[in-house]
Amino acid sequence: MKTLLPKEFKPGSRDLKTAPTRAKKIFSTLLKTHPDARIALNFNSPLELFVATVLSAQCTDVRVNIVTKDLFRKYRKAADYAKVQQEELEQDIRSTGFFRNKAKNIKAACADIIEKFDGDVPDNLDDLTSLAGVGRKTANVILGNAYGVPGIACDTHVIRLSRLMGLSENTDPVKLEFALMELIPKKNWVMFSHLLIFHGRQVCVARRPNCDNCSVRSHCCYGKLTK
Ligand code: SF4
Repeated sequence: MKTLLPKEFKPGSRDLKTAPTRAKKIFSTLLKTHPDARIALNFNSPLELFVATVLSAQCTDVRVNIVTKDLFRKYRKAADYAKVQQEELEQDIRSTGFFRNKAKNIKAACADIIEKFDGDVPDNLDDLTSLAGVGRKTANVILGNAYGVPGIACDTHVIRLSRLMGLSENTDPVKLEFALMELIPKKNWVMFSHLLIFHGRQVCVARRPNCDNCSVRSHCCYGKLTK
């Protein structure tokens, strides 16, 4: 029988029925596999995390950390980003890609942070998602990692692995976020995102998941198919 490629796999109704039990096992197993799972972006304040998260779109966290090392020395407050000439900020973040759009969004968001939120990055989903360039994923990253507010950040790894593991068939990040919130206890939402991202980078890589060396294979729908 021909083995399905990861991108061809879609969980069936039987897989989804067992998702609640398997989600628990997957979480506890991944916690042992990746005890050091954490956000890979460097930051020391909610503003720094906001900027780093915007820069991380279509860019590696390693590259973002290189760029923010100097950036965070130069720009200390939201006002520094709001005031700088767009072209200057573009040059400072150029190597992260899509730098024109990112600079525009950072400047617009920082102007709003000053005007509407007294210079502080908001600590709730509604206000965060009102900022330029901030969707639910970015907002959940900021809430979970800067403010300790539970949220599931559905990035590309979380979307891909949730499907392969048979936890949800949703590929729409917002629908998936709500589906996973039903499966995972609230206190584990932030760590669950970290674990899936770590696992997606180290083991369940996009082109060729390493199922033979995966700790959650016995709980993973795609992994069981490939045995
Ligand atoms: S068994 Fe592991 S590596 Fe294979 S698809 Fe499942 S999670 Fe990914």
